Amino acid sequence: MGLNELVYWKPPKDVARLKVAEPFKIKSIEPIRQTTRAYRRRILQRARYNLFNVSSRDIFLDFLTDSGTGAMSQSQWAALQQGDESYAGSVSFDLLRDTVRDLFGFKHVLPSHQGRSAELVLMSHFISKKGLVVPGNLHFDTTGAHIEFQGGVIKEFPDRRIADLDDFSLFKGDIDLKRFAPYMEKNHRKIPLVVLTATCNSGGGQPVSLANVAAVGKICRKHRIPLFIDSARIIENAYFIKTYEPGYSRKSIRTILREFLSHADGAIMSAKKDGLVNIGGFIATNNEEYYENFRRYTILFDGFITYGGLAGRDLAAIAVGLREATDLDYLRYRISQAAYLATRLWQAGVRVVLPPGGHAVYIDARAFCPHLPVGQYPGHALTLALYLESGIRSCEIGTLLRGRDPQTGEDRTKGLDLLRLAIPRRVYSYNQLDYVIDAILKLKKNAHTIRGVKFVREAPFLRHFTSEFALI
Ligand SMILES: *Cc1c(COP(=O)(O)O)cnc(C)c1O
Repeated sequence: MGLNELVYWKPPKDVARLKVAEPFKIKSIEPIRQTTRAYRRRILQRARYNLFNVSSRDIFLDFLTDSGTGAMSQSQWAALQQGDESYAGSVSFDLLRDTVRDLFGFKHVLPSHQGRSAELVLMSHFISKKGLVVPGNLHFDTTGAHIEFQGGVIKEFPDRRIADLDDFSLFKGDIDLKRFAPYMEKNHRKIPLVVLTATCNSGGGQPVSLANVAAVGKICRKHRIPLFIDSARIIENAYFIKTYEPGYSRKSIRTILREFLSHADGAIMSAKKDGLVNIGGFIATNNEEYYENFRRYTILFDGFITYGGLAGRDLAAIAVGLREATDLDYLRYRISQAAYLATRLWQAGVRVVLPPGGHAVYIDARAFCPHLPVGQYPGHALTLALYLESGIRSCEIGTLLRGRDPQTGEDRTKGLDLLRLAIPRRVYSYNQLDYVIDAILKLKKNAHTIRGVKFVREAPFLRHFTSEFALI
């Protein structure tokens, strides 16, 4: 029996108690400005109904992404001042390498300018010929794109419960072992590596259990296939393990991280998430042979091995940020923000992805706008309506993002249509979250007036970023 049969999320009786007082105070502020509805209507027209085209000047609260949008601490700003900008042998690199060694347990560390360049290094080494298959739970979009860019094939084994909004199992980020194990048995010759993403971003930020990574690691070792962890939110994942997985409540976040990663051969990291910085990433491993090859690719793509496309000060800020991200008071506050937002919306009758993930809240747009057919992109329509209503920016995770099936040319309508509110780290207060809740509930009363959208110009590739739309 898997852990998901044993541990379930229980909705809190008193949702106000989810509000955890921020474990920091404000030293420097960035003014934001609310606009009028009439003004926002014009902005939407000018942006061709694509929120990626809206200037942040015209956004009141920005929940587009939690990537690189966090606030740095005074210690990180101080570290920036002390950044060592030496081309080779930077002291700031030593600081980063030692921090990753301590928290992740990997000896070799190569900086990269962000997560996707670590993916480029990883896939360049492992995908040596066309048709090799890279299994995982659910690959993040850029990970999948880099697999395919090298001629590889994506294969995913998500827990069946992951898209079931009414299933409150806690570790829905797990790989489905029942399907994964026999697949590995049969196909191990064409699998150069396995990538496990924790938390599972493409699955609503759902965590992966330690029991699961241990089992996946064992299967990989049996077939001598390396396992890499996509670690963008691994520290948030460790907090979920500490909170919910039997046997871990007294263990430190560092101990849990070390145990989790001990089952893997290496990690790739977008430090724009749990690194608490605005740019940066790295790749890490204990394997000498991989390291040799990763070094070559790092030099080719990102620069010398002690800076990897970053300034020395960036390396220093990541080192401090990783440490701060393991602080329990910080994590309690961080994870409670998504839990508060999701639970309040759910209790008010808005269908959301549950249990709440670590970094974002997802609203079921098909349930919110039952009058809109899937062909009118209800998720995208809802993000536009929320902006018009309140100046809040969110993004669609659904039919628009999934794009067309290359074989049939049809939209991939299988799957959910969601509005995602990704929560930047250490940026917004609970008052601002309450503003979001009020705006959504007001919108819900008039949901029948939300208009669908159609393409005016459809971009051929990653179409959600640059396509143009009109209201129907
Ligand atoms: C953001 C992200 C990446 C890619 O990182 P970038 O820094 O945006 O290039 C890879 N994997 C996951 C899980 C992510 O969330």
